[in-house]
Amino acid sequence: MHFQGSKTWRPSHKKDLSGSAKHLIIALFVSLFLVSCLDKGSSQVHKSSRLLMGTFVEVSVVGNDQEAKKAASEVFDELKRIEMLTSFHGDSELAKINANAGKGPVKTDPELLKIIDEALRVARETHGAFDPTVGPIAKLWGFSGEGESRLPSDSEIQETLPLVGWDKVKIDHEAGTVELPQAGMALDLGAIGKGYALNGTAELLAKAGIRSALVNIGGDILALGEKSPGKPWVIGVEDPRNSRAIVAVVSLKDKIIITSGDYERFFEKDGKRYHHILNPRTGYPADKLRSATVVGPVGSTLQPSGTAAFVLGVDQGRKYIESLKDAYGLLIDSEGNNHFTAGAESIFQLK
Ligand code: ADP
Ligand code: MG
Repeated sequence: MHFQGSKTWRPSHKKDLSGSAKHLIIALFVSLFLVSCLDKGSSQVHKSSRLLMGTFVEVSVVGNDQEAKKAASEVFDELKRIEMLTSFHGDSELAKINANAGKGPVKTDPELLKIIDEALRVARETHGAFDPTVGPIAKLWGFSGEGESRLPSDSEIQETLPLVGWDKVKIDHEAGTVELPQAGMALDLGAIGKGYALNGTAELLAKAGIRSALVNIGGDILALGEKSPGKPWVIGVEDPRNSRAIVAVVSLKDKIIITSGDYERFFEKDGKRYHHILNPRTGYPADKLRSATVVGPVGSTLQPSGTAAFVLGVDQGRKYIESLKDAYGLLIDSEGNNHFTAGAESIFQLK
């Protein structure tokens, strides 16, 4: 009954705002029932959206008109602030580090330094399956957000690969500097920035006294509180090969859910799919999975685990997600089979 009259929310311009594919990763059910069952007459779901962090962002806040609008606007400001630190393009703080590759250490904003530290930690833990220095390769494929995607020649890839390597990055914590020692190196925080921003958003909403909200940054979602008392937020995990189908649903309360998939940003050539999650060792798109979805607690570094698992494949990806506290994953392999991490069967309800 609760889904009758519900709306299936599908951000049709998910992710790929500049490339060719406009696919989405997560379908989100927002029950209209919610509005009618909220007891305080003044409380309802306020939705607003913006294009930020290279994707479509929707913020849904439950509260009275004034507080909800104010909270949403603070969320957008926060995302903008993180974008100005982490964006691969424009005049972000990250772009300054990349522009100085091969020229020496760069004094870095302490928060950006913290994000880079986190990214390098995940790179170390995943033996480089997740690697924030994949920037030059992402650029080569045109997956870095500007321009058209294209299939580079193998020699271009081989020439570029020596610029990739998380262990080359030099960080001086005392001096507060980051150094990319080779000209042409570039950090790409596309697989950590949104997750980091979601955690900041959760803190901000809590401070603003908001108990119930959804923040969706291009399919990576913070579910704060419940949509109404006793009713958690329900999120659908999309079938990677059918944007109209849901593979599983997840009920969430104070959780973050992220997905890395091969259907978000891709192109096809001669019947082969080329997408934006790259194997840093080979320089080619990782091909073991179609998607990796991870649910976990607010405040943890969750987003990179989806990317890492995507590159690692079922066995190692599962192990990595299981090594994270209270994290649960659903991995869909290249044949379309579902694989759960330990305990995830009770989190993801298969459809
Ligand atoms: P999305 O950002 O579409 O949700 P991810 O979270 O997996 O997907 O991040 C993918 C982005 O991360 C790519 O667009 C690229 O910027 C970067 N990236 C691609 N491959 C890797 C990798 N192996 N390690 C770290 N970052 C990567
Ligand atoms: Mg992601």
